[in-house]
Amino acid sequence: MKEVQEFRSASGKRIFALPLEVFPNFWGYAYLLDLEGDRILIDAGSGLPASAEGLEEGLKRLGYRLEDLTYILLTHGHIDHFGGIAGLRPRTAARIGIHELDWQTVSRHEGRLALLSRRLETFLAQAGVESEARRQMLQIYQLTKAFYHSVEVDFTYEAQGMSLQALQMLHVPGHCPGHVVMRFEDVLFSGDMLLNGNTPHQAPESIIPSMGIEHYLHSLERMRPWLQASRLVLGGHHAPLENPLEVLEHTRQRLARRLLQVLRTFQSPQTIAEATLLLYGEKEGYDRLLVLEKMGAYVEYLYQRGWLEIVNPQEEEKPLKYRTLRSGTESEVLLEERSYVCV
Ligand SMILES: [Zn+2]
Ligand SMILES: [Zn+2]
Repeated sequence: MKEVQEFRSASGKRIFALPLEVFPNFWGYAYLLDLEGDRILIDAGSGLPASAEGLEEGLKRLGYRLEDLTYILLTHGHIDHFGGIAGLRPRTAARIGIHELDWQTVSRHEGRLALLSRRLETFLAQAGVESEARRQMLQIYQLTKAFYHSVEVDFTYEAQGMSLQALQMLHVPGHCPGHVVMRFEDVLFSGDMLLNGNTPHQAPESIIPSMGIEHYLHSLERMRPWLQASRLVLGGHHAPLENPLEVLEHTRQRLARRLLQVLRTFQSPQTIAEATLLLYGEKEGYDRLLVLEKMGAYVEYLYQRGWLEIVNPQEEEKPLKYRTLRSGTESEVLLEERSYVCV
């Protein structure tokens, strides 16, 4: 069992980081912000038994009960962050919030899963994944989300003016459509936007609109002033981030290097499935699905911005093959500085 950590905001408000084993051997954090009148839980774990018990135990050891929670705010619609609300909803009167773009995922889960499964099937077929492997991957994809059932939330963030009392929110799509980071005084809750030594998972917009590399890069820039203004940055899987601006730069560099590797992989024409095998090697089941999604996101970004072309437009029955049109440098392959929208 990992230990609960305690932090303080500029005015001395208490913040607790509750470590949760959200999936076997995969840890995440929920945060409790104690504002005296209100006790706000940021993220809720996956809801799997180890995660749910970790949350309840952690709160109990700090002297809180589930009934004491007044708000549950979700950073984004990934199951390791929101799954826990299914178990919490009947046991607390806490008002639950999510961003508009992740509302369907949380509150109309079954429909969302059906829609995404169909889009995923189309993507995998276009990528050149054989039908038996597609069927298996879709089955695993659905299984990993089947333990959750839809939960009604009480409010969405844009409808609230992107704030809740002294908490401010910033919409940062890319890793997830409705991802928000939240600021309380000099503390930033960054969700999965920045991970130490790793790039958060990416998937193509063709499967999930408001995901994709372009959105993610824009969102990193939108976050930059908020990071600069924060003394403490608490993430969804690492707490706290030592030097968040450096983590942001490393993330951009890692992404740029990966995009250049992808360009090199497509020097001879490849399908997305072939290029994924070349770059990531043999993978099975869910791991294979994850790397295919990543490659799909890279290819989509590079194709949209004219780095790749499709070489077999006349072969209607076959998966699309891509080829590199030009090579570039790390800075060229990222968005041009002036194209960023800053707030
Ligand atoms: Zn996530
Ligand atoms: Zn996560």
